[in-house]
Amino acid sequence: MDIHDIRAQFPILSETIHGKHPLVYLDNAATSQTPKRVVEAIEHAYFTQKANVHRGVHCLSQKATAAMEKGRSAVREFIGAPSEAEVIFTRGTTEALNLVAASYGELLSPGDLVVITQMEHHSNIVPWQLLRDRRGIRIKVVPVLDDGTLDMDVYRRLLEESPRLVSVTQISNVLGTVNPIREMAAMAHDAGAVFVCDGAQGVAHGPVDVLDLDVDFYAFSAHKMYGPTGIGALYGKRELLEKMPPYQGGGEMIGHVSFDHGTTWADLPYKFEAGTPDFVGAAAIVEAIGFMQSTGIEAMKAHEEDLLNYATERMKEAIPDIHIYGTAPHKASLISFLIPGVHHYDTGVLLDQLGIAVRTGHHCTQPLMERFGIEGTVRASFAAYNTRREIDAFISALIRVNSMLR
Ligand SMILES: *Cc1c(COP(=O)(O)O)cnc(C)c1O
Repeated sequence: MDIHDIRAQFPILSETIHGKHPLVYLDNAATSQTPKRVVEAIEHAYFTQKANVHRGVHCLSQKATAAMEKGRSAVREFIGAPSEAEVIFTRGTTEALNLVAASYGELLSPGDLVVITQMEHHSNIVPWQLLRDRRGIRIKVVPVLDDGTLDMDVYRRLLEESPRLVSVTQISNVLGTVNPIREMAAMAHDAGAVFVCDGAQGVAHGPVDVLDLDVDFYAFSAHKMYGPTGIGALYGKRELLEKMPPYQGGGEMIGHVSFDHGTTWADLPYKFEAGTPDFVGAAAIVEAIGFMQSTGIEAMKAHEEDLLNYATERMKEAIPDIHIYGTAPHKASLISFLIPGVHHYDTGVLLDQLGIAVRTGHHCTQPLMERFGIEGTVRASFAAYNTRREIDAFISALIRVNSMLR
C-alpha cells in the first residue's frame, strides 16, 4: 500500500485549515473523504448519460440504467450477496434500517419482542421505537460492559424469550467494538429470530461477506466507504424480501396500477425502490468499491490497525490520565476519549484551531452516553489515507489543548 499514491487521490487532503494548518482529517467515522475517481464518475454520469432509468427507450436512458445496474452488481459482489435481486438501493443506512422496521415490522404482532443493544446508533433504535408505537411490539436491550463489549450472557437470556428479530451494529461508531456478528446471528437463528446487521462502520473497515456472516439483512451507506453521499444499500435474503410488503409507493416499484383491479408490485429489488433512484450515486459506487479493492481491503485494515495502536499508545504517553472509552480486544480504528475535567466541545474547538478535524458530542448514541454517565466524547477516527505523521500532529495538538485547558 503506497500511502503517497493513496493520498494523491484525495485533493481535499492538501487543504489548509484557518489559512495555516494542513488538514488532519480524523472524522472518518462520520464520513470519509472521496477519491477523484468517484467524483469523476459522478461528473461523467451528469455530462454524458443523464437520463431517467428503467423507463426510457432512448440511448441515454439505457446507458444510465446500465450504469446503475453495474453499481448494483458491484455492491452485490462487494458484500457477497448471491443475487442482484437482494440488493436494494436506499438513501443510506438510516433508510435501509427504516425500511426493515417499517416493512418487516408489518409481519410482527403486538407483544412480539425485538432485541437491540445499548451501543446502537439512533438509526438502529428509533425505527424500532416507532414500530413499537405503531404495532405494540416490545424492545429489549443488550447492555454494554465496561470495556465496550456486549454482555453476551444477557444476550443469551434474551434469546430464551424467543424474540422475532435482533438488530445489532457490526462495529460501534463510538467504542470501536467489533461485535461477533456471525456468532450472534447463528444464536439468533437458533432462537427463531431474524437477524439485522447495521454495517455502516463495518463495511468501511474490513471485508464483508453476508453469506458467511449469515445475516438476514445488512445495511450500509456509501459515504462512509469513500463513496458519494445520498446513497446506500440494504441486502436482504430473498425469501424474506418476497414476504415483505412495499416500503413506499410510487413509480418504479409497481407491476401494474389500476383503480379497479388492484395494483401489483414489481419484482425484487424494484419493489422496494419507489421513485427515481439516485442513479448517479449508484453508478459512482462502482468507483468507491474499485478504490477499496485496488488499495486492498486487508491492507487498509492492517494500516488502520497500526494507526489505532500507535495513536492509543501515544495518547496514553502524552496524557497518562486520559480516559479512553472502548477497550475491546477486537476494535476498529477509532478512539473516543475525554481529558479529565475538560469539556469535549472545548477540546474539539481547540483541535480545530490547530487543523485537526475530530467529532465531539454524543455521536447519535445517547443511550450509550448515559451508560457511561457522560454527555459526549471526543472521537478521532482513521481511514486508509491517514498517516503516523498525522497522528503525531494530533498528539502535539492534544498536548497543547491539555496544557491550555487544565
Ligand atoms: C453513520 C452510522 C449510521 C447512520 O448512517 P447514515 O449514513 O447517516 O444513514 C448508522 N449506524 C452506524 C453504526 C453509523 O456509524
